[in-house]
Amino acid sequence: MMQTPCKALLGAIALSLGCSAALPSLAVEAPGPGFPQFASAQAVSSACDSGLASAAVRLAQMEHRPADRRWLAAYDVFSAALEDLSSPIQFLSAVHPDKTLRDAAEACELRWNDFNSSLGQNARLYQAVRALRPADAIDRELRKTLIEGFDDAGVGLPAAQRTRAKQLMDRIGELGQTFDRNIRDAGVKLAFSEAELAGVPQAVWQGAARDDQGRLLLGLDYPTYGPVLQAGEVAATRERMWRAKTNEGGAANLTLLAEITRLRKAYASLFGAASWDEFVLRRRMAQTPAQALAFLGEVKTAVQSRERSELAELRQAKAAHLQQPADSVKVERWDVSFYTERVRRERYAVDQEAFRAYFPPQQSLQFALRLIERLMGVRYQRIEGAAAWHPEVQTYAVSDAASGQLLATLWVDLYPREGKYNHAAVWGLRSASKALKRPSQAALVVNFDRKGLTLDELETLLHELGHAVHNNLSATRHALQAGTSVKRDFVEAPSQMLEDWVFDKRVQKLFAEVCPDCTPVPDALLDKALAASHYGKGVRLSRQHLYASYDLALYGPEPADPMALWAGMEGDTPLGHVAGTTFPAGFSHIAGGYSAGYYGYLWSLVVAMDMRTAFGADRLDAAVGRRYRDTVLGNGSQRPPQALVHQFLGRDFNAKAFFDDLKR
Ligand SMILES: [Zn+2]
Repeated sequence: MMQTPCKALLGAIALSLGCSAALPSLAVEAPGPGFPQFASAQAVSSACDSGLASAAVRLAQMEHRPADRRWLAAYDVFSAALEDLSSPIQFLSAVHPDKTLRDAAEACELRWNDFNSSLGQNARLYQAVRALRPADAIDRELRKTLIEGFDDAGVGLPAAQRTRAKQLMDRIGELGQTFDRNIRDAGVKLAFSEAELAGVPQAVWQGAARDDQGRLLLGLDYPTYGPVLQAGEVAATRERMWRAKTNEGGAANLTLLAEITRLRKAYASLFGAASWDEFVLRRRMAQTPAQALAFLGEVKTAVQSRERSELAELRQAKAAHLQQPADSVKVERWDVSFYTERVRRERYAVDQEAFRAYFPPQQSLQFALRLIERLMGVRYQRIEGAAAWHPEVQTYAVSDAASGQLLATLWVDLYPREGKYNHAAVWGLRSASKALKRPSQAALVVNFDRKGLTLDELETLLHELGHAVHNNLSATRHALQAGTSVKRDFVEAPSQMLEDWVFDKRVQKLFAEVCPDCTPVPDALLDKALAASHYGKGVRLSRQHLYASYDLALYGPEPADPMALWAGMEGDTPLGHVAGTTFPAGFSHIAGGYSAGYYGYLWSLVVAMDMRTAFGADRLDAAVGRRYRDTVLGNGSQRPPQALVHQFLGRDFNAKAFFDDLKR
């Protein structure tokens, strides 16, 4: 997942899409490795006050600037300064260990939302950008994007509707923030006896606190939830865990999502759009909901029969496990991971848990960084002792291997803790610019088990590193067009492309370079894991299809209650809907930045799989890697995604690799 910085460029629309952070320090000053330090909530509030005051002064200067040749460059400096003043503080709301500090960061975020939604409606800046004569294609693309951002923020609406647009946008931002907080700060714990945890690796629970009856108290963090669902022998244990996870966010979030949906529809209607998805998709690769839905339909057709046959196999596996006749057992949703893993173990002799011994977390990170070094001509140097937001956070300087030039700072936050964002995501905190000689900054946030990673988790690490690299290796002229500022239905592609590098034996050999003492993962195990990875694809992609379809239906022209819509759509799938569960309450993607955009995961996977073909049999081909860095990553949004991919592949992208893979 990519958390997009709130950019001045996008104004209110960026906020409506739920961008959660943009980043601080002054625009053209070279960044040190240290993350800004705040001793207290009061210090956060003071920094927020001074940041907004500085922004107001800069805005006044910008408003009085003539729309001459240097206007775009000046606007980029202005925008970069806003990013530096706001984004580290906003990011802290997701990761700082102190709740009072997180709360202060959230309060600051609302004030920046207010500033940005007003900025998006600034008529003086809008007139200036319209009056510009762009010098070349890059400036022309930026001018176009800026105009679209102002238009979508409502600058051209009649006064009363303009005011309404700002109110809606600010309110949506506030509701989205509460939605995320309800998940992050819920602190749900479930109590289990050791017997109830039969099958779950002891390492998962042995350090857990116990209640007064001696039962172990387990949270819903991934290093706990994943193994319980995959390996827990007791169905009732899996069910309790699954229900708790599926009810994250609770009734309060269902109410919030209903209001967010209603407000987004109202927002779109101010612009004459029939729906929020129509309003949003006209700026995306997919262009219209109809095109996104047609693509989803093709995916559905391709995976439908595969899903059915996999579910039949899971039922056989469950019957065999329980020693009951197949027609007397039913596969429940909390059975899917468990029996999928069981089939994989039996058929391919692969056990995800067994990978933890080969992939210690720190060495896995070093391995992933070494892969990028080898492939893309960069160097990562750890900065020891650099202060961040938590003592365990690591800081890396990223430089160009050939020239030694500093390109970026990367922070990595590996392990779960109370009150921390509980999924995996990258925050682009600072956008690079060649004109400003401005290195980028990104934060990679995951929640891994200290005992080691499964192969799936190593894949997650490469996925997130793909986002970080997209930010870090950007080489655009303007910060406003840097790295991950690309269209939302393309932004996952660079990350998804790297995922299956984990199965490559030559790639895995890089592990020995960073950890000579680690036991190398056996080639035969990788072969089995690759074969096993195809099993379960029907169920997995059908689920992705459901999420994407639900998102588009929710934000489509017909108003719908989020829970009723979900119960109906999930109810139409082979495994049905489980009464009493509220999955949409925890679906933070669509409450935030991926609203009317979840289809982008499948859409960009098509591009990602086609881009992989350029590497052929050599996943370490540095010449292709360098070309990829220079064309796709380096260009950010200077050119549309289709054009970048064409430049990289030497042809238009197509869906052949994607649909071929569905047959494997
Ligand atoms: Zn992602």
